[in-house]
Amino acid sequence: MRNLSRNKSVTMSEEKAHAEFGPSSLKYVAKCAGYKGNSGTNPAAEKGNRIHAALEHRKVSMLTDADEIDIYNSCVKEEDQLFSMIFSGNECDTLIREKRISLDLDAKTETFGTADVVATRGDTALIVDYKTGYSKIDEVRDNWQAKAYVLGVFQEHEHLNHCTFAFIVPKRDEVLWGQFMRLEVPMLRAEISAIVSQAEVTRPKWEQGTIDIDDVTPSVDCRFCAFESKCPALGAITLGVAARLHPELSMLPAGNLQITEDTDADTIEKLYAVAKIVETWCSSVRYQAVQRAMAGTELPNYKLRSLGQIKKITSQDFLLKLAAKYNVTTDDIIESSTISLADVTAALHKKTPKKAKAKTVEAFVAEAEALDIVELGAPRYTLTSR
Ligand code: SF4
Repeated sequence: MRNLSRNKSVTMSEEKAHAEFGPSSLKYVAKCAGYKGNSGTNPAAEKGNRIHAALEHRKVSMLTDADEIDIYNSCVKEEDQLFSMIFSGNECDTLIREKRISLDLDAKTETFGTADVVATRGDTALIVDYKTGYSKIDEVRDNWQAKAYVLGVFQEHEHLNHCTFAFIVPKRDEVLWGQFMRLEVPMLRAEISAIVSQAEVTRPKWEQGTIDIDDVTPSVDCRFCAFESKCPALGAITLGVAARLHPELSMLPAGNLQITEDTDADTIEKLYAVAKIVETWCSSVRYQAVQRAMAGTELPNYKLRSLGQIKKITSQDFLLKLAAKYNVTTDDIIESSTISLADVTAALHKKTPKKAKAKTVEAFVAEAEALDIVELGAPRYTLTSR
């Protein structure tokens, strides 16, 4: 039996990759077989990646600010406690960080994912996943990501009989954990195989252009879906909202609610009216929801987040003087700002005597164009009623 110290863990991050239906997206695919996660990154995801990398290499110097270090320290502390609890204070036999776990499923697509920590001792395993954000995490025994990793670990290590899965969620001050037994493997395999098999049938319909309302199941998670902007189910919901506000709009033809080359003029017009109506309704709902959250209403899937405050300058003169004190000249400020022609003509309009306003502004614009310092962007259009 190999006795592995915690700080001699093996890391396998070079094996990172994304499966078509990986464990972290199973929750969404289980809810809607048409779901596909948005690709691309954002500051929160990059922050999460940095913290994960630092935890993998146990190198706090990889982090960039105090919040990241706080999350890192909480993860280390909670992980220590989990190891102590699951292995009764003993060293584990094996410990792998960023461990790729493959699932043997009754489905065609290869399914795998990367678990943050997998440790074993005797017939017991501990899997740990760090969650660095604020999102609410489903309880472990109902959590598809946890169930997928547990299944993969049981399948890979035939001698294991017990497996504990734990999510460490410092931003929510939570450690969620649950236990699984080997006898649950057939059930876990059947459940996850069913989800992946259904998605294997549904997702290709997007490319084939045959996706229909009955294939998909809208939920709050649609906001993470790559198909959000063209999903027929979301179009149907939107239409339902518009029709409640304006019943005559319920007369749209069944089927695709996107504008395509085949859409007739009457339908384009109705869809445009729906979009305009729903846009206003959406803004109003968003505003009211934020007001309610500010007043203390707890929402199950959303939380209030400050976007900061807009800082307005009350004295431009003093600001320029202050900037100069820091060696920022007026030329530097002009260089780093975007001054629009409209801003300058508005200023000119304001300071020109009444009778000469139009002519002076016209002459100014003509001279600017003659000097070739005005570039015309692409023409912009909107639709207005006849
Ligand atoms: S946008 Fe459509 S396909 Fe995507 S999760 Fe929502 S309902 Fe499913």
